[in-house]
Amino acid sequence: MRSPNDALKENLVNVHERIFKAASRSGRRPDEITLIAVSKTHSARRIQALYETGVRHFGENRVQERESKAPSLAGLEIVWHMIGHVQKNKAARAAALFDSVDSVDSIALATKLDRAREEFAVGEAEMMAGAGSSIRRVPSRPLRVLLEIKLDPEPAKSGLQSEDVPRVVQALSKMPHLELSGLMGVPPYDDNPENVRPHFQRLRNLRDALRAELGPQALPVLSMGMSHDFEIAIEEGSTEIRVGTAVFGQREIE
Ligand SMILES: *Cc1c(COP(=O)(O)O)cnc(C)c1O
Repeated sequence: MRSPNDALKENLVNVHERIFKAASRSGRRPDEITLIAVSKTHSARRIQALYETGVRHFGENRVQERESKAPSLAGLEIVWHMIGHVQKNKAARAAALFDSVDSVDSIALATKLDRAREEFAVGEAEMMAGAGSSIRRVPSRPLRVLLEIKLDPEPAKSGLQSEDVPRVVQALSKMPHLELSGLMGVPPYDDNPENVRPHFQRLRNLRDALRAELGPQALPVLSMGMSHDFEIAIEEGSTEIRVGTAVFGQREIE
């Protein structure tokens, strides 16, 4: 009989084939593209099963959900990505629970993440120094962040307007505990993925325009592409795809 874990493995093989083909078509190497398995709504047990097949990057869209799964997954070498909107009152917890916040959409949120990460660093230093010894401040690893750009005109969708991005980039350059690595975007859903190509192009062009200011190596990461459209995203230069359904199967709840 086919077990749920066999299904996961089959799905993963399929996704890797799709990545391979899209990369080949566009003259890119498949290993330039990181697969982030979007595990929202899926149990810690399923995450662990996928981890055992070799997947290391996982994405969640709610701080609380990540927190509730954390105890069962402690000790695994997972790179955790926050891919959903972060409410400012949850910024400190997000800074502690994630290795990357891919959905930074305001200077206010970035400021809170930066401060939380700094306190985290001081806390670690205190622990290492031990009781009674003088407290030495060691810089912790900065939190990787991406700026989420609004690609969907729908007012309820989050993300920065392109014209605000240079100002935000400038502000983040003064936040020592954040490492701005690139841009992320979620285009409006379209049954025909070909129709979302211009949105991916827009994100890439925005990154390239920022490089004119920041240098040719700046903002290496483009997080774009989901289960139904990641091939198009790869053709347009995506370096990280966020894939839920195509790996884990349909979600029961949203
Ligand atoms: C849920 C989600 C995904 C994954 O969506 P699928 O269509 O299941 O691949 C990717 N990105 C974000 C921001 C999401 O919220």
